[in-house]
Amino acid sequence: MNLQTKLRELSKEKKAILAANFYNFETLHAIVSGAKAEHASIILQLSESSIRYMGLELAAQMAKTALRGSGVEGWIHLDHGGSIDLVQRCLDAGFDSVMIDASERSLEENIKISKEVVRRAEKYGANVEAELGYIAKLHQSQDPAGFTQPGDAKRFTEETGVTALAVAIGSAHGFYRQEPKLNLELLGEIKAAVHTPLVLHGASGIPDEMLVSAIRKGITKINLATETKNAFMRRLKEELIHTDEIDLRIVFPKAIEKTRELIQNKLKVIS
Ligand SMILES: [Zn+2]
Repeated sequence: MNLQTKLRELSKEKKAILAANFYNFETLHAIVSGAKAEHASIILQLSESSIRYMGLELAAQMAKTALRGSGVEGWIHLDHGGSIDLVQRCLDAGFDSVMIDASERSLEENIKISKEVVRRAEKYGANVEAELGYIAKLHQSQDPAGFTQPGDAKRFTEETGVTALAVAIGSAHGFYRQEPKLNLELLGEIKAAVHTPLVLHGASGIPDEMLVSAIRKGITKINLATETKNAFMRRLKEELIHTDEIDLRIVFPKAIEKTRELIQNKLKVIS
């Protein structure tokens, strides 16, 4: 099943799928084995910086091979694609799904760029996610002025034909300095205005009950990145303090295990 069909089905059932970013073999392994243990489907995400870090072909092939080997139903997705050029390279490399993030442009420009990505992705049968409104990037705070407006969302989805829409309703990337507060009323209004499955970015640090409420109100895809890095690196540090072990194949599995637990817990919350 392609991802756009999966998202539409989940959206109708008011259910959600976890989309987790991976950064290396270890975090990929943690995510896929977590999904397998929970019998869950999963979206494996690569950001532009992770693609630069691992190399596009290697990262994509590694993710595909991990899914095939585990029997987990999953898809490879480009997270926050900053240019049509990068999107095109990912489509050529066999990604199932791409995000074009032109959220910092004007509505008109965002529509134009996203529409072009939809046109290109069509040939590949790929899912296209775009962002409307502005979700705070790392170390920024979310400004309610950047929240997604239901009228704009309706126009945007109708004119672009995107098959997933990332909405700005109060979440932010990175960890939260204050208790996050999602505007669920606004989410309900956006959901009523569009037929496109909705995506929540910046799920790291959002309390479980709030995530569940967001799913009930119409979020279909939940993006998780920061908590994964945090779980992996903190556990790794803990381990390194206590040991002089240099065999990374003995040390890394502790961090993989911790990350797998995090993924399993998230999957339990959102299922
Ligand atoms: Zn994001």
